[in-house]
Amino acid sequence: MSKPEKIVAVKGMNDILPADAPMWELFENTAETILKSYGYQKIVTPIVEDTSLFARAIGAVTDIVEKEMYSFEDSMNGDQLTLRPEGTASVVRAVLEHNLVYDGPKRLWYKGPMFRHERPQRGRYRQFFQFGAEAVGFSGPDIDAELIMLCRRLWDDLGLQNVRLELNSIGNADERQRHRADLIAFFEQNEAVLDAEAKRRLHSNPLRILDTKNPAMQEMVNGAPKLLDYLGEESLAHLNGLKKILDRNAVQYTINPRLVRGLDYYNRTVFEWVTDELGAQGTICAGGRYDPLIEQFGGKATPAVGFAMGIERIIELMKGLGETQAPSQCDVYMVHQGEEAQAQAFILAERLRDAGLDVVLHCATPAGSGSFKSQMKKADGSGAAFAVIIGDDEMAGEKAAVKAMRGEAGEQQQASVPFLEVVDYVVDQIVGGGGEHDCVDENCNEHGHHHRP
Ligand code: ATP
Ligand code: MG
Repeated sequence: MSKPEKIVAVKGMNDILPADAPMWELFENTAETILKSYGYQKIVTPIVEDTSLFARAIGAVTDIVEKEMYSFEDSMNGDQLTLRPEGTASVVRAVLEHNLVYDGPKRLWYKGPMFRHERPQRGRYRQFFQFGAEAVGFSGPDIDAELIMLCRRLWDDLGLQNVRLELNSIGNADERQRHRADLIAFFEQNEAVLDAEAKRRLHSNPLRILDTKNPAMQEMVNGAPKLLDYLGEESLAHLNGLKKILDRNAVQYTINPRLVRGLDYYNRTVFEWVTDELGAQGTICAGGRYDPLIEQFGGKATPAVGFAMGIERIIELMKGLGETQAPSQCDVYMVHQGEEAQAQAFILAERLRDAGLDVVLHCATPAGSGSFKSQMKKADGSGAAFAVIIGDDEMAGEKAAVKAMRGEAGEQQQASVPFLEVVDYVVDQIVGGGGEHDCVDENCNEHGHHHRP
């Protein structure tokens, strides 16, 4: 028989393996706790939407819509569908579809995979995960500041230090229009310096040229007309209001007049959290205001602002913080030898889980069930605090051997505990190191919930 061809993951789409999963969980738990502490509610939207949703929301001349979307025809009915490249369009669709803002503004958050057909490289993938927030129905700089400050709290809680905030205002459509005319004229005067992509964007999306990563264009771009100088009174007041709140709350930022967003729907406030530790893909969070979007979608004019974080990039930063200890798989590892012992091990394992403990029961592999010695090695590798051991002798005496796995070698205690007392014994050992059951939870009815050391 010829060996079957190996199937691998789609290029640019990554597995998150068990070794990394705890880091992802830590990020998600921390972020969700913080979002909740600011009054944000979770929203989940489908991964697939009508292509027209993204084409209309994001804008026809953006990177995403021009070349990055995974679009396909539904073979059942010919619908044009797209794997979502970002979260805001879907959230706005859901807000309108379900009239979520009928009783006032909403603070929302989401997480999940996004899909863009990009050239895979460090920090840039074809499936990547975003964590985002959208505040819909708020118009002032106060909510912009709140979103920025909850990001700061997240970086602090995760222990990320070398992250800085860049801020800009891209004004409103009129202001951008006036700036755009001058910008195109400026770029035309400097045509010799423009690369092919910039030339292509000159008349479609000249603002985006400011965002170029081409070193040869940096000096020219630095001298380009600044949108900040075109802002009217209201846009300026919004920016100054935001700066004032940030200043009073000791949030550091730099104004970056060249900061724009790749998506069409933004206005006024735009911001990015950036680090130098990830090479070229240094933006870990990007956000801004998109006041015109909901009306463009046929809803009642409703201002909104949000951000999206790239989780892979944040995980990479978290990994840079140093070795994290591999978490234990369980509290108790069940070791057993013989059919009767296995039956007893199943029963005890279920009762330990009833008491809230995490229990791994040794199971057979093609190599067999393994000797006591090899099973104890597995128990050790699992990181369990205790091994509960049952063999012929234990069955005869109706007692299990309970071995503490974490003490110094040689000091590891082993006790012989009647089957009926194993749960109490292990719970007591884990909670109080033996002796009285001294649970800190006053609602504790003995051992009916999870005890971790
Ligand atoms: P860029 O200019 O780097 O292409 P973008 O404007 O396309 O960025 P956004 O659409 O604002 O990025 O996405 C928000 C965040 O999501 C980014 O700051 C980044 O952290 C993350 N992100 C975007 N695209 C990818 C990708 N292909 N792979 C991994 N993370 C990504
Ligand atoms: Mg992009």
